[in-house]
Amino acid sequence: MTFAVHGLAVARGIAIGRAVLVASSRVDVTHYFIQADQIQSELKRLGVARDAVIDELQRLQTDMPKDAPLELAALLDVHLMLLQDETLSAGVRQWVTERLYNAEWALTTQLDIISRQFDEMEDSYLRERKADLEQVVERVLRYLKGAAQPVAAPPPRAPRQQDLLLDDTLDVPLVLVAHDLSPADMLQFKKSLFAGFVTDVGGRTSHTAIVARSMDIPAVVGARSASFLVRQDDWVIIDGDAGVMIVDPSPIILAEYGFKQRQGELERGRLARLKNTPSVTLDGQKVELLVNIEQPEDTVGALAVGAVGVGLFRSEFLFMGREGRLPDEEEQYQAYRQAVEGMNGMPVTIRTVDVGADKPLDSRHDAAHLNPALGLRAIRWSLSEPAMFLSQLRAILRASAYGQVHLLIPMLAHANEIRQTLELIEKAREQLDKRGQAYGPMKIGAMIEVPAAAMSLPLFLRYFDFLSIGTNDLIQYTLAIDRADESVAHLYDQLHPAVLRLIANTIAAGQANGRPVSVCGEMAGDPTMTRLLLGLGLRSFSMHPSQILSVKQEILRADAGKLEAWAQAVLDSEEPAALLLE
Ligand code: PEP
Ligand code: MG
Repeated sequence: MTFAVHGLAVARGIAIGRAVLVASSRVDVTHYFIQADQIQSELKRLGVARDAVIDELQRLQTDMPKDAPLELAALLDVHLMLLQDETLSAGVRQWVTERLYNAEWALTTQLDIISRQFDEMEDSYLRERKADLEQVVERVLRYLKGAAQPVAAPPPRAPRQQDLLLDDTLDVPLVLVAHDLSPADMLQFKKSLFAGFVTDVGGRTSHTAIVARSMDIPAVVGARSASFLVRQDDWVIIDGDAGVMIVDPSPIILAEYGFKQRQGELERGRLARLKNTPSVTLDGQKVELLVNIEQPEDTVGALAVGAVGVGLFRSEFLFMGREGRLPDEEEQYQAYRQAVEGMNGMPVTIRTVDVGADKPLDSRHDAAHLNPALGLRAIRWSLSEPAMFLSQLRAILRASAYGQVHLLIPMLAHANEIRQTLELIEKAREQLDKRGQAYGPMKIGAMIEVPAAAMSLPLFLRYFDFLSIGTNDLIQYTLAIDRADESVAHLYDQLHPAVLRLIANTIAAGQANGRPVSVCGEMAGDPTMTRLLLGLGLRSFSMHPSQILSVKQEILRADAGKLEAWAQAVLDSEEPAALLLE
């Protein structure tokens, strides 16, 4: 039966395909595809883990004190029985051999399927066994995690399309449906062939959504119960423009969306022609269009859309999902140099590591903090780990010998943070001098993403060569709305007068002091915001490559001079959104 699940539109377009569920688990597990020739070793890994847990449970049984409650012995029996049950192991084997899921993903997928069967059982005793099953699977997952390869090993390459699909579904696109996906997981999937994705949680500017947008596939987040309502292999349509997922669509609906999909492709074809058109307004104002990247390889996509530089390299993606083992100076240097060389002499703005909040370093980081978005994230973390920070600064400086590198510091608010940061940059230079290693000249900029920074502009202008407005966080912190929380997503308002005022003041202060100002938050890549930002005087936008051409189209149609008065009216309005629609 056809039904629709509503969420938040993240990345545009229509995807039609079969659902691949990524079940969530209380144990933090990684999801990736293995290669076909790794099937046997993956099954072996599973077998070893399962046997180890069986041993552990049997040992618990033997060592049980005589006076232990009878229920405990019975419970261990149930756990052992569940672990040896064929429904679990046969299903898990199938996910590994036919879909090439890694062991952990196969286990959580099968757990999810069996859990749903338990949920439907009439008998309450049997229904309650679900919790037992979850516990034993968690034991196996923990064992696998403990015995895991060091995460430093590069993630396995994504399989080829023919490896990924079952014979009878050859050439059917796959759509990822998950309760939640960490940004690190999303990055793994970036290398895969998914046609679209949906998550239950997340806001439009959560980092998972940001990575999804960079994949340029239709995506919906905050769809609440999507992963519960959809089953493995269900046919689904993702409408990334409307923020809707349609499950089990009827032939008429499929035909309608097939048509929309083709229309979208035609529109993209039309936009592609703008790639080499200079980005200039009708009244001759040049506008710089830069890209946001997460990995050095993303520079390929940047060049493909005619970007003139990287406005934001989110370096933290080199640090995440490695279970505490951070990239050393050499590894980082190679990555930054690759990005710099990839841009063929155009500027590359590398932001120092911004972990924390919804970008945890690994499963342990942030777990102990009540309010990670207000905690030890971004520059605060860097300053608390000077050795780590210095090694990143040296790596960036060394890469600056190969092209134009700009350094960007996230989340500054205090004068003493600024001074400490600049001192450490100086120290990193001295260390390189001592080693006799080369580095180039480097402009240093600050992100304006905390209201306190946007209200202390003279301080920032005194110390920095350029400013970059991080609207994602600026909105979050100005409005006290968690950007990753779908339950308050309706209040996350990029057009709130307070937000607009802070943005406008920052652009104006930069202009008045001859200091470049860019916007690198998601607002810069939203074509409905382009005219307003132009009217406020912005001439440098940084966004995912997938957004560049739509924004350029708006720029080519705009008369920046005429937009100024209108933008001031929007700024002074109680309801800016209403004026924007006019
Ligand atoms: C921002 O906050 O707008 C920004 C660009 O940084 P991030 O999204 O990585 O927090
Ligand atoms: Mg930010």
